[in-house]
Amino acid sequence: MTKWNRREWLAFVAAVGACRQRPEERTTTALALEEFEPNSSLRVPESTVERAMFPVIDFHCHTTWSAVPLGADGGEGFGERVDFLGNPEELLAVMERKNVELMVNLTGGVGDGLEQTLERFDRAHPGRFLSFTEPSWNAVERDDFPQFQAEQLERSQKLGANGLKLTKTLGLYLRERVTTGPLIAVDDPRFDPMWETAAGLGLPIAIHVSDPDAFFLPTDRHNERYEELSNHPDWSFYGQDFPTKAELLEARNRVFERHPSTQFVALHVGNHSEDLDDVASWLDRFPNMNVEIGARIGELGRQPRRAKRFFDSYQDRILFGTDAIPPPLGNETPQQIFSDELYEIYYRFLETEDEYFDYAPAPVPPQGRWRIDGLGLSESILKKVYRDNAARLLEII
Ligand SMILES: [Zn+2]
Repeated sequence: MTKWNRREWLAFVAAVGACRQRPEERTTTALALEEFEPNSSLRVPESTVERAMFPVIDFHCHTTWSAVPLGADGGEGFGERVDFLGNPEELLAVMERKNVELMVNLTGGVGDGLEQTLERFDRAHPGRFLSFTEPSWNAVERDDFPQFQAEQLERSQKLGANGLKLTKTLGLYLRERVTTGPLIAVDDPRFDPMWETAAGLGLPIAIHVSDPDAFFLPTDRHNERYEELSNHPDWSFYGQDFPTKAELLEARNRVFERHPSTQFVALHVGNHSEDLDDVASWLDRFPNMNVEIGARIGELGRQPRRAKRFFDSYQDRILFGTDAIPPPLGNETPQQIFSDELYEIYYRFLETEDEYFDYAPAPVPPQGRWRIDGLGLSESILKKVYRDNAARLLEII
């Protein structure tokens, strides 16, 4: 046994004590988390994929956004006035360079807002932009809402909408008196005519329910998306009267089950890319469910072997999307800004076997401090994911 003199013993005790100190009590020179930008020492191949191998349908974009907040009064309903986020000519230039055939604008609005969207994008540039409509949430208090919303969908399709988009408003924000009262469940029966009408009209539904797992956990030092949630505290759904994430997804899955003729595209890998076994089990149970990968390559790419098996198994039901929002910068995360670089990262992830690269064009990854590996998908799978799966749902030849 080592024999220590008194001075050595005291130094040992002090060291043990320092280890036991809580982080906030440590007195060492600490680097602020947001200042930590380590450069990787790894020397591995780095590819640039300037153009996708096949023409791309980006199934998840936002070239317009509702200008009227949910529940705002003043005679205009939610989504009935839109902000234009993109200049079509500028977007088309990026699309040409990146081999993007078509952008699907999911948040096209409704009523007058939808009309403005279609005029500026879809009709001005046929074959390059398609827009989805959104529910008229401000009408949810009306006794005749189920019928009204079903008919509204028919009107929207006549105007030129190509699908229906549900944001996470449903389940997390929409309440009995629009913005007040109890939350309305995702599978509330008053929406049944809407789901069924979409099926009858052949309109696919892009649906976003819940959010990443980390957004339903406390924003503390154990939360792997601590920086993101600290920058956007309103993105946390931990506490208050929010349902759990599992409850939200179960309600959504009951909708899939009750409406087997309706085609659903569950955005963001069904919002559970943290657990691909879970998503796979839903795809097995619901033949009318598809998924889209926008803003989730950070999750897929940190489990590349599991993700590649997922693409192999569900190659006919995975759609390419970026969740891109054109500048100017708003509240969105940097990874979402529409740019050449954004597309190059997605292409690199899908097409190459590059290792350990950033999943977003920013010095610090916005979702969490990790890097991703490429999947190196086969040409036949790439063709389906980039274009064919979306073309089938959108009935584009
Ligand atoms: Zn989106």
